[in-house]
Amino acid sequence: SKPIVAVVGRPNVGKSTFFNRIVGRRVSIVEDTPGVTRDRIYAEAEWNGVTFGLVDTGGIEMSNQDVILSQMREQAQIAMDMANVIVFMVDGKEGMTAADEEVAAMLRRTGKKVILLVNKVDNPLNPPDTIYDFYELGIGEPIPISSANKLNFGDVLDIIVESF
Ligand code: GDP
Ligand code: MG
Repeated sequence: SKPIVAVVGRPNVGKSTFFNRIVGRRVSIVEDTPGVTRDRIYAEAEWNGVTFGLVDTGGIEMSNQDVILSQMREQAQIAMDMANVIVFMVDGKEGMTAADEEVAAMLRRTGKKVILLVNKVDNPLNPPDTIYDFYELGIGEPIPISSANKLNFGDVLDIIVESF
């Protein structure tokens, strides 16, 4: 069976955008308002001849603050149960949040490979200082990407398929 890569992170960080760009089709729904990914979504992707399953764990994301944390916990649990590799996405524009720290704590306890992507770093020549804060999550090196313009995707895909 194919290796599974699950994408987790709080609403609006760009999980579905990343998913669609990797898969090469608009499978997952992208919206400006958090709360629009209709379901957990699966598609197959390929890189350098390696096929893998990609899961957008976004589920039915709510903008209500009370449920965001419980949903993120659930997503992280799904990812830890089913995935071989977990992509943990944070938002370089917003910077680190308490919810990011909470999910990171869950992910650190899994024995699985976790790749920390700092999305929305649209200008690689002028990355925000906030990206260094993400080292504190204890997940390893934060990798700046821009899902909007596929910045650093080659490196990220290399890291993903090398970790199977
Ligand atoms: P999700 O809730 O984590 O699935 O996030 P979405 O993929 O739905 O994206 C949320 C918002 O962030 C949308 O308005 C996207 O267009 C925007 N977005 C996603 N990736 C990027 C990026 O790399 N740069 C910028 N500037 N915006 C992005
Ligand atoms: Mg989504």
